[in-house]
Amino acid sequence: MRLSGPQAASIAAQLVRLRQPLEHGRARLADVLDVPDAADVRVEGERASLERIDEALVTFFGAPHSYTSEDLVEIAAHGSPVVLEMLLNRSLELGARLAEPGEFTQRAFLAGRLDLTQAEAVRDLIEAQTLTQARLAASQMGGALSRRVEPVKQGLVELIALLEAGIDFAEDDVDVTPAVEIARRIDELTPPLTALKASFARGRIIHDGLTLAIVGRPNVGKSSIFNRLVERDRAIVTATPGTTRDTVTERISLDGIPLELVDTAGLREGLGEGLRDSLEEAEQLGIHRSREALADAALVVVVLDATEPLNDEERRLLAAVEGRPALVAVNKSDLIGNFSEAGHPQSDCTGVPAVATSALTGEGIPALRERILALATGGASEPGMLTSLRHQQAIAAAIAALGDAAQANAASIPYEMILLDLYRVLWALDSLTGQTTPDDILNLIFSTFCIGK
Ligand code: GDP
Repeated sequence: MRLSGPQAASIAAQLVRLRQPLEHGRARLADVLDVPDAADVRVEGERASLERIDEALVTFFGAPHSYTSEDLVEIAAHGSPVVLEMLLNRSLELGARLAEPGEFTQRAFLAGRLDLTQAEAVRDLIEAQTLTQARLAASQMGGALSRRVEPVKQGLVELIALLEAGIDFAEDDVDVTPAVEIARRIDELTPPLTALKASFARGRIIHDGLTLAIVGRPNVGKSSIFNRLVERDRAIVTATPGTTRDTVTERISLDGIPLELVDTAGLREGLGEGLRDSLEEAEQLGIHRSREALADAALVVVVLDATEPLNDEERRLLAAVEGRPALVAVNKSDLIGNFSEAGHPQSDCTGVPAVATSALTGEGIPALRERILALATGGASEPGMLTSLRHQQAIAAAIAALGDAAQANAASIPYEMILLDLYRVLWALDSLTGQTTPDDILNLIFSTFCIGK
C-alpha cells in the first residue's frame, strides 16, 4: 500500500504500530493491528492475543526526495487481500483517499520530477512483454527522447529570441537579422526533427509489435512453418493461442520484437464436410482468407511448394505483396535436389525475396527467422525513438510549422508572422515533453496507467 501527500506519515503511524519512528530512506518493522468491528464475535479473553493480525515493513521517503516529491510511505505486509482491504478502509477513515490510475506518476510529473515522455515510459516499462521493450522504456524513462529534442528546442529558442529582439528594437540600432541567416537557422533545425520522425517506424514496432501473416494455398506447409517459428519463440506472456474458425494466431517474441503470427491454415479444418470435398472451392476460400489476413498484416510470408508449379492465384498473391515488407518461403525444398537455391523452380516472383525452407527438417527456418527480423526492425537501434502516435504527431506538427516559417521567411513576410510559426514549433515540441499538453490530454494519458503507479 502506498500513501503520498503531507499526511502520509501521520496516517501510516495510525494505521500500523511502528516499532521505531519513520526515517527517510529506511525500512521499519511494524505490527498491523486488527480493527475490532461490530460483528466481532470473539470472546473477550482472545482479543489481546489476536490484536496483531499481520506484520509489515514500512518505508518512508520524505518530500521532496521521493517518487512523487511528496512524503511517501509504502507498507508491505504479507499480502492477504482481506488485511489489505482492512488497511485501505482504515486509511480512508483517517483522511486518505483512493488514488486515481497513474496518480503517483502524475504527481511526479506535476512536481517536475519527470517529463511527459518519461512518465509514459513508466507505463511502458510496466506493460513491457519482452526485454527489448523494457529496455526501450527504460531508456525513455531516463530521458533519452527528451534529450534528443532538447538541442532542437534550444536552437529554436535562440532563433525566436533573435527575431523578437529585431522587432523590439526595430527603431533602435539593433541590426535586423538577414533572411539568409534566418533560413540557415531554420534549415539546421529540420534534419534532427525529420530523423526523429523517422525513428517512429522502428520505435512503434518495438513498442506495439506487429502482425505477420503466413499465406499461401492449402497444403504448402503454412501450419508447419508456423509451428516451426512458434516452437522456439513461443511467447511467455500470452498463454492461450487465439484460435478462430479460420485463422490461428499466436504471439511470439522474435528477438524481443512481439510478433503476432497469423496462420490461415486452420481453414480446411474449419470447413464443413461438403466443402472439404470440393477442393477447388476450398482453395479459393483459402486464398480469400489469405488476402484478408495479409491486408491487416505488417509483414507477410508467402509460402510456396517447391515441388509444385505456381498457379495463377499465387502469381496474383505475389504481385499483391510486391513492394510491401514480404518474404517468400519456398517450402518442401527438401524434396527437390538443390536446397541452397533460394528461388522457386518455376518462380518469377521477382521483387519478393525468397528463402528456401523445409518445415519438415527445419532447414532454412533460422534463415527465415532472421529475414523476418530484419524486415521487422529494418535497421539499428537508436537512442530516443518515438514510440507513440502522440509523439509522432507532436514532431510532425513541429516539422510542418517549421516549414511554414521557412516559407514565410522566403516570401519576406514580416518577422511577426514568422515568429507565430516558430512559436507553433515550440508549442509542439513542448507538448511532447508535457509543458504545453492540455489537461484533458494529460488526464487521458495517466488514465491508461494502473492504479497505484
Ligand atoms: P498448410 O495447409 O499450408 O498449412 O500445410 P501443412 O503445414 O498442413 O502441411 C501440409 C503437408 O505437407 C503436411 O503433410 C506436412 O507434413 C507436409 N510438409 C509441410 N512442410 C513440409 C516440408 O518442408 N517438406 C516436406 N517434405 N513436407 C512438408
